[in-house]
Amino acid sequence: MEQVQWKVKKVVDAHVHYRHREPAAYFNQILDLVGYTRANILTGWEPNCLDRKREQPSRFYTFGMIPHDPAKLAAGDGAYRATLLEQLVARGYDGVKMMEGKPAWNQQQKTPPIDHDYFRPFWEKAADIDVPITMHMADPLDFWWPSGPDSYCKLEPQEECFRQTEAVLKRHPHLRITFAHFLFMGPQLDRLGDWFARFPKMRVDMAIGDEFLYYLSDDPDKARDFYITWQDRILYGTDISDHNSLHLARAKAEMLRLFLETDETFTSLRDKAYGKGPAPGSNGRTELHGLALPLDVLEKVLGRSFEAFAGPAPKPLR
Ligand SMILES: [Zn+2]
Repeated sequence: MEQVQWKVKKVVDAHVHYRHREPAAYFNQILDLVGYTRANILTGWEPNCLDRKREQPSRFYTFGMIPHDPAKLAAGDGAYRATLLEQLVARGYDGVKMMEGKPAWNQQQKTPPIDHDYFRPFWEKAADIDVPITMHMADPLDFWWPSGPDSYCKLEPQEECFRQTEAVLKRHPHLRITFAHFLFMGPQLDRLGDWFARFPKMRVDMAIGDEFLYYLSDDPDKARDFYITWQDRILYGTDISDHNSLHLARAKAEMLRLFLETDETFTSLRDKAYGKGPAPGSNGRTELHGLALPLDVLEKVLGRSFEAFAGPAPKPLR
């Protein structure tokens, strides 16, 4: 299979996973195939979560999750999370991964809203030490549609996720935080731009879930302007993992390359890699339109903006 050919020299993926499903050599083979300089592994807290970074300390950034203590969670006492955050950083993690904004995850883990007092000591410490955070907040709009067995229609609405997010950002306007999957705000670009303007260290990544690509393709000129305006705040990312086939992993990277670098019209390479026909996004659109971004903007989105967020190179392990 041919390696993905980028227009720029440096490509850093802000959002990959190593799920301990396949050997490290296979994961490395994927990253070679998609032509990356570096990648950021979003992972857990356990000692083996740093294994890939230990093997290749200059190739991998690693963001870890902070576990919840069930008794303290039930009591709403989150002071311990500030201490665990310090420990995470001291162990050589480059930042924090959070799932606490994903409605299905919250329901399962019984975590409170992110603007609840339980999270307050964590947010205060994170803002204080300026640690980078990548957070999964909300989910695609069509998750709330009543069709399907896993519908969110009985959960709080998507807008409640945005209310919590804004409440935290208002309290900590300088939080260094990236919201994964474009914060599912593809349908509301003006609002996302307003948040970027108000919260100067807030970013989004492009990890697939590809919902946002369909919305941006509704008005490619507007989307292109948005990328140019916010080139420092949009991070290339794919959600590639060791559990992907080579074909699927390559499709994820190549699809975003087409979207960013070219003015081509195309359908989902990911669906094709799954052996499916192209399924429409929740706006009913099937065709995607590339933005043909200028080279200096590509350099930002594909690498430099992540470095500005998480540091010019991975932190050394202790
Ligand atoms: Zn992910």
